[in-house]
Amino acid sequence: MTGAGFEVLVIGAGSTGLLLAQGLKQQGVKAVVYEREDPTTYQDRPREWGMTLHWGASYISKCIPPEMRPKLNEGICCDPFYGSKDLSLPHYNAQTGEKLFDMPGEEPRRISRRKLRNFLSQGVDVQYGKKLHEVALDDNGKVKATFEDGTHATGSVLIGCDSANSAVRPFLVGEEAAQLEDLDIQMFNVSSSFPRDVALLQRTGHPIFKNAYHPLGYMWWQSVMDVKDPDEPQTWLFQNILSWVGAPRAEDFPDQASRLEFWKEKAKSFADPWKTVGENLGDDLKFGVDRTTVWRPIDWSNSKFAGKVTLAGDAAHAMPAHRGQGLNNALEDAAKLVDELAAASRGDKTPAEALQAYEEEMRPRVLAEIPISIAQAQMVHSYDTLMNAPFFVHGMHKYRSDLAKQGKEVEIATQPKED
Ligand SMILES: Cc1cc2nc3c(=O)[nH]c(=O)nc-3n(C[C@H](O)[C@H](O)[C@H](O)COP(=O)(O)OP(=O)(O)OC[C@H]3O[C@@H](n4cnc5c(N)ncnc54)[C@H](O)[C@@H]3O)c2cc1C
Repeated sequence: MTGAGFEVLVIGAGSTGLLLAQGLKQQGVKAVVYEREDPTTYQDRPREWGMTLHWGASYISKCIPPEMRPKLNEGICCDPFYGSKDLSLPHYNAQTGEKLFDMPGEEPRRISRRKLRNFLSQGVDVQYGKKLHEVALDDNGKVKATFEDGTHATGSVLIGCDSANSAVRPFLVGEEAAQLEDLDIQMFNVSSSFPRDVALLQRTGHPIFKNAYHPLGYMWWQSVMDVKDPDEPQTWLFQNILSWVGAPRAEDFPDQASRLEFWKEKAKSFADPWKTVGENLGDDLKFGVDRTTVWRPIDWSNSKFAGKVTLAGDAAHAMPAHRGQGLNNALEDAAKLVDELAAASRGDKTPAEALQAYEEEMRPRVLAEIPISIAQAQMVHSYDTLMNAPFFVHGMHKYRSDLAKQGKEVEIATQPKED
């Protein structure tokens, strides 16, 4: 179906689904987003986090209308009053407080997930309270989405943008292949305010974000989460994340008090500002133990839904958050899908050709990224491995054997003897 009858069903009003809907609207393609949460929980959900937007930023600008572009920073940044452009993200030794290195990036900005969703919701058709239950094909070759409230919608294609635990994915690849892989990396992730002096202390080193590694195997991420009044530090929200590999796992913490106690106890061996932040984590905080999961997109061209249904964002590629690539790839997915679906809507391609072209670009891109994100997630919890990395040990200087912490003699290969 092309032209006026071409309609896109988007499942999930996260960053991926909303940017897709924005881009399709610009191209004159009809799209409706179906979101499981109702408008109240969607706005007030307690689980919220910030994300670093870097190389994916241009895809937002590409998909939103020109009048929204000047409002982007103000609309989505955690601290909209921060005027500087950053070119890197600082990393620290969490035990000594010493700065280890600045990791270069493409103008990294800390943005709020909630603000991005609200910003991208403007002007697009989002149907709330629509939890996807089933995907089917109807007799006319259209895709039919049935929701838990008993209603349904039909469209030319359906795009599953419904997160790492995607409900669309099992229909496309089967229950077993849709399963997430657990990396056994645990994470506390909490957003909270602090007394004025602790808030100011947290913005030392870098006013927006920093990452720290502890020899005991902990990573502690710290960033500004929300600034409503730059003159009232006690009102600023900060995001703090503590992550580690293996035990203790979720089941090892009987209650909230035990999670908080664990974090406070660990913080004692950190330098400031982490140590003081740990002391000031409020007794009223509520946070769970988040898992770190992976899903690698497989070839689903044999599926009966191939050419009608596809996945984008975390639904298509779940990866650890430690390298900050999930959102940036999700935005690229959305922009690439906009181009392809617009071509299908104009009749330049069939819908199946459009989805296939998108998948052939997306799959190798994220399959290259996922192992790197996994390696980084594992390495940041292994302090010795990190510190023995050649760029730490030798910098760009000439090789010096006394600096080679691995202690390996240089092996010189000998030529095989000729008979
Ligand atoms: C702590 C943390 C830090 C991160 N930091 C970064 C970072 O710095 N940089 C980066 O690039 N990425 C980062 N990420 C990853 C990033 O958050 C995700 O890649 C991104 O949010 C994915 O967006 P999405 O739209 O695909 O999914 P989501 O934002 O999860 O949206 C999916 C939507 O689908 C809805 N939904 C789910 N199931 C159904 C259903 N059955 N029916 C209807 N609707 C449904 C959900 O309610 C939700 O609104 C981080 C992730 C975490 C957890």
